[in-house]
Amino acid sequence: MLDTAQKLIRKTGKKLGLSNEQVEELINTDAEHNFEIQLSDGSNYKAYRVQHNNRRGPYKGGIRFHPQVDYDEVRALATLMSFKTAVAGIPMGGSKGGVSVDPRQLSKEALEELSRKYVRGLKDHIGPDKDVPAPDVNTNAQIIDWMVDEYEKLSGDKTKASFTGKSLENGGSLGRDAATGRGGIIVLREILNKLSISGPVTIALQGWGNVGSFFALVAEQEQPDWKLVAATDSSGGIYNPEGLSAKELNNHKKTGGKLAELKLGKSISNEHLIGLEVDVLILAALEDAVSDKNADALKAKLVLELANGPITYEGYEKMAAKGIHVVPDILANSGGVIVSYLEWLQNKNHEHWSEEKVNKELENYLVKATDEVYESMKKHNLTLKEAAFAVAISRLVS
Ligand code: GLU
Repeated sequence: MLDTAQKLIRKTGKKLGLSNEQVEELINTDAEHNFEIQLSDGSNYKAYRVQHNNRRGPYKGGIRFHPQVDYDEVRALATLMSFKTAVAGIPMGGSKGGVSVDPRQLSKEALEELSRKYVRGLKDHIGPDKDVPAPDVNTNAQIIDWMVDEYEKLSGDKTKASFTGKSLENGGSLGRDAATGRGGIIVLREILNKLSISGPVTIALQGWGNVGSFFALVAEQEQPDWKLVAATDSSGGIYNPEGLSAKELNNHKKTGGKLAELKLGKSISNEHLIGLEVDVLILAALEDAVSDKNADALKAKLVLELANGPITYEGYEKMAAKGIHVVPDILANSGGVIVSYLEWLQNKNHEHWSEEKVNKELENYLVKATDEVYESMKKHNLTLKEAAFAVAISRLVS
């Protein structure tokens, strides 16, 4: 993923006429922190925080708990955050954190201890005007609440603006939970309009986590012309060309079930889903889901990157050569960090906005950002993915 992000920055930077120094400046990270967390049961975990760029505002980015977390992954995700906040047009920079752990193996007490110790290891490097973490893969409002509490004890800060993605009772924002999925809908709707792809729009969705499930549930309510025909989780899923009910799928997942268990259509694997003949393929699982190995199988007209880095550089090049539009992660999933910024603003100003106001602001930011990316694509003869990087680069270079 780091390689993919850096290749895109280099390629787009060159197309825009940047010097080598300017490109390297965009690639380099400002600061990298790593430490060991030891829990009271004696187990050890590697923890990271990478601060990539703060020229536009405080560092901003989530914390991931996953066994796959390592330095390069966190570097890549931190880099993507700087470009994401720049495309979104919010006054924040980019960072990312993570712990190499499988949180499903931990008791609730151990998870709390891990979360609090993560903050202890980083207390001097984070804060409302320095670096503002948020949830990412396998972290949620409960984990963030523990972290805020720990940070308040260590620093005395009471603004609640030290973290975003908090619970509502603890200074969180209405609409934050659904924001990444909702943002994906806004971006997809705008791009489909611009490309004159009209309904019924068939959709295959990979990944039924927080982002994918909110995308499907909100789309079912608000986009009657879109038809979800396939969905998978990590163990596979189902395909039904007549359409699937997101609500039904979600109810099953909420009770701990797997999508593949549902007898609502033909059962399919994740690889099969990627090759389905649909209008839109949505990648909302983990990174590198599409690579040069399976990109040839793709038949979708358009791919929306709702996860971070779900397509490798080589996979993306194959898709671009076939004329498949890729709506990049730094635009498609920026709804989460946009509402994080709105949460931070509410905390700073001691305000509490209605969900309607939050969603309206989200809509304004994303319609504008999508327009700017599309205009840049046409003006500079770029792909959508390159255009998103170009817009970000123009805001990040000094
Ligand atoms: N983890 C989310 C992302 O990758 C949100 C980050 C944030 O809200 O700071 O964009």
